[in-house]
Formats: sequence, C-alpha cells, structure tokens
Amino acid sequence: MAENSSVLTVSIVTPDGEVYSNDECSLAIVQTKAGDMGIMADHIPLIAALKIGSAKVNFNSESDVLAINGGFVEFSNNLLTIVADSAERKGDIDVARANSAKARAEENLEKANKNQDADSMNRAEVALKRAINRINIAERN
Ligand code: ATP
Repeated sequence: MAENSSVLTVSIVTPDGEVYSNDECSLAIVQTKAGDMGIMADHIPLIAALKIGSAKVNFNSESDVLAINGGFVEFSNNLLTIVADSAERKGDIDVARANSAKARAEENLEKANKNQDADSMNRAEVALKRAINRINIAERN
C-alpha cells in the first residue's frame, strides 16, 4: 500500500505485458461503461468495466494518455489496477497500423452487412472502434 496519503499506485496489466507496475501517481481518469471516473488517493473502493476509450494518468509534473481497449479497473487501499485487453501510451500508438486496421474493419463490416452475418458485424464494429480510438488518442493535442 502507498505510504503517502496523497498518492496512489497504478498498475496496468495486459495479455502482452505491463504498462505500469505499481507506479506512483496523483490522479487517474478512466472511462468506465458507466461513465468517466477520476480516482485520487483515498477514493472509495471500486470495480468497474472499462469501455474502449482512454485513460489519463497524472504523475508529478507530467501526464500520460493511453488507449485502453476494454477490461476492468479495480481500486482499493490506494492501489489502482487496470486489467485491459490492450493498452498503449499515446506516443506508442502506430497510427499507420491503426489506419490499416480501420480500413480492414470497414471492409469487413461492409461484407458482413451484405451477408447479414451478425457475428462478423459485431467483430468488425469492435475492431473499428479500437482503431478509431487509437487514431483519436494519437492525434489528440
Ligand atoms: P491490428 O489488426 O493492427 O493487430 P487490433 O485492434 O486487432 O489491431 P489488438 O488485438 O487490439 O489489435 O492488439 C494486439 C496487440 O497489438 C496489443 O499488444 C496492442 O497493444 C498492439 N497494437 C494494436 N494496434 C496497435 C497500434 N496501432 N499501435 C500500437 N500497438 C498496437
């Protein structure tokens, strides 16, 4: 548990590895399926499902913005854990790759629509959301 009561520690875990591991921060803003949530030290315990969206983590003098592609956030005892399907820091997002993924998803969506294939339609819609989210975050000021 963090000793200093004005800080919390943040871990972001994905199937491809950790983005943060017990790093101290002052504030994290996450996008849950129920709405955006700002978490500071001593916040009440919570667990919530994350949507495809962003997370902002404030450190002493700087902050990171990340693309978060669904998962869960859990907070208790000043430990914030995000378990995400994938998470990339803004600066690590490969925009060309995201644009290719977007074009592929749009093609797949069109095919699925023609074939009235609901499963493929859902998959393509989610892939499209992931790609657009990455592009939006990479291009955000
Ligand atoms: P793609 O079709 O380009 O693989 P995707 O949305 O299917 O995109 P995911 O399954 O969400 O990709 O992610 C697989 C891995 O690739 C994760 O580790 C994720 O962080 C990484 N990743 C995916 N797209 C990008 C990107 N545009 N920039 C940086 N990392 C990416």
